[in-house]
Amino acid sequence: MIQILKNVPFTSVQIKDSFWSPRLETFRMTTLPACLTQCETTGRIQNFDRAAGQDPTPFEGLFFNDSDVYKVIEGAAYSLMNHPDPELERKIDAVIDRIAAAQEEDGYLMTYFTVAAPDKKWTDMEKHEMYCGGHLIEAAVAYKQATGKDKLLQVACRLADHYDSLFGPSKRHWVEGHEEIELALVKLYYATGEERYWKLAHWLLEERGHGHGRGMIWDKEDWGPSYCQDDVPVRDIHKVTGHAVRAMYLYSGMADVEVVSGGAGYEGALRRVWDNVVHRNMYVTGGIGSSRSNEGFTGDYDLPNDTAYCETCAAIGMVLWNHRMNLLYGDAKYADVLERSMYNGVLAGLSLSGDKFFYVNPLSSDGSHHRVPWFDCSCCPTNIARFLPSIGNYVYAVSDNEVYVNLYLGNTGSIHLGNGLILRLQQTTQYPWNGRVEFAVQPEQEAEFGIRLRVPGWCGSVQVNVNGEAPEQIRIEQGYIRLWRRWAPGDRIVLEMDMPVERVYSHPLVMMNEGKTALQRGPLVYCLEQTDQEVPLNAVQVPSDVRFAIRHDSGLLGGITVIEGYDGAGQRRLTAVPYYAWDNREAGPMTVWIPEEQPKSLRVYTGQIVGRS
Ligand SMILES: [Zn+2]
Repeated sequence: MIQILKNVPFTSVQIKDSFWSPRLETFRMTTLPACLTQCETTGRIQNFDRAAGQDPTPFEGLFFNDSDVYKVIEGAAYSLMNHPDPELERKIDAVIDRIAAAQEEDGYLMTYFTVAAPDKKWTDMEKHEMYCGGHLIEAAVAYKQATGKDKLLQVACRLADHYDSLFGPSKRHWVEGHEEIELALVKLYYATGEERYWKLAHWLLEERGHGHGRGMIWDKEDWGPSYCQDDVPVRDIHKVTGHAVRAMYLYSGMADVEVVSGGAGYEGALRRVWDNVVHRNMYVTGGIGSSRSNEGFTGDYDLPNDTAYCETCAAIGMVLWNHRMNLLYGDAKYADVLERSMYNGVLAGLSLSGDKFFYVNPLSSDGSHHRVPWFDCSCCPTNIARFLPSIGNYVYAVSDNEVYVNLYLGNTGSIHLGNGLILRLQQTTQYPWNGRVEFAVQPEQEAEFGIRLRVPGWCGSVQVNVNGEAPEQIRIEQGYIRLWRRWAPGDRIVLEMDMPVERVYSHPLVMMNEGKTALQRGPLVYCLEQTDQEVPLNAVQVPSDVRFAIRHDSGLLGGITVIEGYDGAGQRRLTAVPYYAWDNREAGPMTVWIPEEQPKSLRVYTGQIVGRS
C-alpha cells in the first residue's frame, strides 16, 4: 500500500493563537517540570541507578515504570525542538547518563528485571519488556532530532539489536503483551536506515494470533489472548478487542508496517476495525474503552457514561492511529475522529492549571471524580507530556502537489510539497470558538498547486473565498474542499464554517442514552456541571422548544464559549461548558448526555455519535 500523504512535522508548524498557545505555555512551565519531578521523587529515575549497581536499595514502584521516564524525555525533546532551553537539556542529559549506565552488557535494559527478577527475564510476555523498550526508542529518536546527541539512540539501538538477536524467524517466539515496540521499531528504522528494525516489527505483528502467547494474561480465563490482541492473526482482525491502549498502538504499528513494507496485507483489517471502533465502540468525546476491568472493550454499543473508562492514553492512541489512517488514505473522515478525540477525550485529561490529570474520563459523574497530580501507574500524565508539545504534527499533510489542512488553529506552517515547492501557510482564527479561518498563502514563487481544506464532519454549511471571490464551484473530495489554481505570494483564503449548537444522539442500542441528547458546537462536546445550573443536575432537561444561545466568557475556565438553553418563556434552563474544561471549579455532578423533554426522532446512528437535530 502506497501512503497517499506525507506528514508535515510539528517542527515546521509554529503555533500562535489564543486557544493552544496558553496551553503550550502551561505545559512548558508546569506540566513537563511536574512530570520530571514526579519521575525523580517516585524512584522511577533512581531505579536506573539501582540497575547500574550504584544504589543498593530495592526496586521501587510498578515493573513498567521505566516507560514513564522515557515518555517524559520524549516530551522534553519535542519541547526543546521548538523552544530551546539549555537548563532542561542539561537535566535530560543527566537522566540519559543514568539510563545508559543501567544497560546490561548484552544490551538488555529494563530496571525491574535487572534489579528485582534477573532470572525471570523473557518468561512472561505480559511484563512489558518490549513495551518499555519501545518507549525508550521513541524517546531516543526524538532526543537525537532535538539535540543532535545520540547517546540515548545508541542505547536504543543496542537494545533493539538485543531483541533482534533473541527473537525472529527460526529464533524464539514472542508476542509482546502491550504493543508499542512495533511502531517504535519503524521509527528507529527511519532514524537509522537499518531495515532489520522494521522487519522485526513486521515479524512481531505476524506472531500474533497463532497461539505463541505465554504468560499471566493468557492464563486468565475471563481475559485470555484477546485482551492483548493475540486471538487472531492481525490481518484477520474484524473487531476491536481487549485493552484499548494496546489496540490503538497495535493498529498504529500495523499502519506503519503496511507503509514501510510496501504492503503487508493489513489494509482490510485496518479499515474493518476502524469502522467497528468508530461506529460501535466510541464515545461522543472520542474516548474509547468502556470497561474498567480490562481497561478496554466489552461488546458493541456497550457505552455506559458514569462508569466509562475512556483512559486518556486511549484517546491519545486514537489520535496516533487516525493520523496514520489519514496519511494512508488522504480521507478527512480520519481527521474528524482525530479532532474529536484531541479536543475532548485527550484535553480533558489535563487540568487547566497543567498539574493534575485524569486517567479515567467518564461522561457523567456524581461529583466524586477528580484529577490528581500523579498515579502509581502514571501512563496518562506522561503520555500527555509527549502529546501536547507535538500537536503541530496533526495540522498539515502533503502530497506531491497539494497541501491538506487537517486542523484549524492559529499557526504558520513551512510546508514542502513532494514536488519540491516550498510555501508558507499562515492561519488566523479564533477556532474552536468560531469557524472563520483566514489563510495567507506564501509560495516561494507563483506556482500551480492545490490546497485542500477539511470540511469537518460536524460542519453542515461552509463558504470559502480566494482573494475575496467565491470559486465558481466548490469541489469536495474525500471530505476536503479542493482549491486548485495558480497561487501567488500574498493570496488569501477565507473559510467560514457554520458552527451552530448541535444536538447529537446515540444509536438506540446505547441503552443509557435513550431519550437523551448531547450538545456539540464545532469540535467541542459540551457538558453540564452542577455549579452552572439553577436546579439540581438530575432535574435539568433540554426543553422541547429550546433556543440555544452562545456567550463567550473570557474570564471563565481560561476563556470559553458557553452554551445556554432557554425555554419558550425565555427562562434559562441549562448552561453547558466544554467537556474538556470540567472539574476545574468546585466539585459537583457532571453529565454530557441530557434528557430531552420530548425526544426528537432519531436519524443517523453510529455508536455514541452523529445524528444531527
Ligand atoms: Zn494511561
